[in-house]
Amino acid sequence: MGLEEKLPSGFLLTSVEQLAGYMRKASLWPATFGLACCAIEMMTTGGPRYDTARFGMEVFRASPRQADLMIVAGRVSQKMAPVLRQIYDQMANPKWVLAMGVCASSGGMFNNYAVVQGVDHVVPVDIYLPGCPPRPEMLLDAILKLHVEIQAAPLGVNRERAARLAEEAALAA
Ligand code: SF4
Repeated sequence: MGLEEKLPSGFLLTSVEQLAGYMRKASLWPATFGLACCAIEMMTTGGPRYDTARFGMEVFRASPRQADLMIVAGRVSQKMAPVLRQIYDQMANPKWVLAMGVCASSGGMFNNYAVVQGVDHVVPVDIYLPGCPPRPEMLLDAILKLHVEIQAAPLGVNRERAARLAEEAALAA
């Protein structure tokens, strides 16, 4: 009897997905990228007191090619939006976006023409974190919740999302 016949249906694929999910969540590297006051709390989170190294993410990467997490830390000005989108596009799949603070999530108190009213108008957001600014403990909590999502995500989920975004961009053009 072959190995495939002895194993329950889908066993191998499920295990590979779980392993890939574990490796992805345990090596999430954020892009070096801060927009406003929330970035101070993000930098504190990366320091020794809160120690994101515990979760395999001590290296904030200066190159988007080496990053798979974008923490949007602060309000996004209209002028900055195309730059932010370009950085997102340069990050390799799979990749995730965390909107840190009320300004990144919804524009916050900057309800005016100069500020994007939520970064989800520019890039797809995986998790929103409220607060002004959110404390480092809150950011860590959001990252750990994102870890759960990443661990559970089937392989290829980001490719599907990328295809959907490409369709949306083609429709908007
Ligand atoms: Fe600054 Fe508060 Fe906006 Fe964060 S949410 S960028 S701390 S004003």
